Amino acid sequence: MSMTLRIKRVPTVVSNYQKDEAEEVARRVGGCGRNCLNQCCIPGAKLPLYAFKKLNVNDGDTGLLGREKREPPVAFLDSLLLGEWEDRMQRGLFRYDVTACETKVIPGQFGFIAQLNEGRHLKKRPTEFRVDKVLQPFDGSKFNFTKVGQEEVLFQFEASKDGEVQFFPSAPIDVESSPSVVAINVSPIEYGHVLLIPHILERLPQRIDRESFLLALHMAAEAGNPYFRLGYNSLGAFATINHLHFQAYYLAVTFPIEKAPTKKISTLNAEVKVSELLNYPVRGLVFEGGNTLQDLSNTVSDACICLQENNIPYNVLISDSGKRIFLVPQCYAEKQALGEVRAEILDTQVNPAVWEISGHMVLKRKKDYDEASDENAWKLLAEVSLSEERFLEVNALIFEGIASGDNGNENLLKDPEVKPRSHEEVNTINKRVHCSAVNEQICRVFTM
Ligand SMILES: [Zn+2]
Repeated sequence: MSMTLRIKRVPTVVSNYQKDEAEEVARRVGGCGRNCLNQCCIPGAKLPLYAFKKLNVNDGDTGLLGREKREPPVAFLDSLLLGEWEDRMQRGLFRYDVTACETKVIPGQFGFIAQLNEGRHLKKRPTEFRVDKVLQPFDGSKFNFTKVGQEEVLFQFEASKDGEVQFFPSAPIDVESSPSVVAINVSPIEYGHVLLIPHILERLPQRIDRESFLLALHMAAEAGNPYFRLGYNSLGAFATINHLHFQAYYLAVTFPIEKAPTKKISTLNAEVKVSELLNYPVRGLVFEGGNTLQDLSNTVSDACICLQENNIPYNVLISDSGKRIFLVPQCYAEKQALGEVRAEILDTQVNPAVWEISGHMVLKRKKDYDEASDENAWKLLAEVSLSEERFLEVNALIFEGIASGDNGNENLLKDPEVKPRSHEEVNTINKRVHCSAVNEQICRVFTM
């Protein structure tokens, strides 16, 4: 089985306005001349606005499975998101032709997806922040999404004020309430690759909070298609911009991480079920269920907040229309900085972010693409994983964080048995690396 979609991408540039020469091509429409999302260009600007219906028990919804069918004013995924994305492709806003590089499903047990990314000869932009600190303050002098052109923004996305789905093809940008927006990634790795930027004008750094994470879950639920997933990379886990954003794209293949068997660890009081991944090269947790979308969202947010506060880099995959969430703490950048990643893995220059960890491998060398196999994918991802010992420590922190993050004690563990089973198969490949604190000097000179 192989797909014909061919994509050539430049991995680190996510907006045309990230490039200095962008000034030359910017539309001259007053303001600063870039038609950007700063004060200079916002007055009078309009963008489509999609207002989603909040899902909660109070208005009669019974949670994710009981979500009622209703006729939306516009088909969120097919007409709005993908339609507007294709419109931007027609307008030539992407940095390359999406038909220029190959993608295939690697034959074998896991179904890893390999993509050949031919951007490897292009000069890499140095990372603009430290990779050894998961939380760093926003720095307006560096690239951020308020600098993108308004033409890169597809629509504003917010909760409906009257409880019904609403769509306005042209709505003013309310600076006071700082809209959340969906924008194109000008270097897409797949069809429909977009960014969700919560409260863009608030200039939030890359860090999860409860409200933003719930917004991302609402977007997944609104898309309502299991092949449209959202992903999140923390700083230190291959985020390249320190401005709060989620990524999302459409790929009609089940990801290997979604097929991995799981073992239940615990059910929390709000009926959120927590499991661990089994027979997968990266150790991680799976969250699902919950009486409401918000229960699930709060539980995962609290886990993420705990990781951030403990300076543990992580990736999140929002799967199955927001009903299943994978949380993967990782230590690749740290091992890389400490010189503990094997040369054959480093030579691939693959940055294992959320998509790679989920099994969609973006490869930079033809050799790696041609030789792609279950074994090679597994070897690479095993380098990303925490050791068994460290994973157990981190799980204990996460469950503490979830329990303390709840004000009403609703999330106290029903089932105190939280010790996960060992991963015999993973251990055969994974080195027993304990992720200790990183030497800051090493990380200063390290760039992704
Ligand atoms: Zn401007």
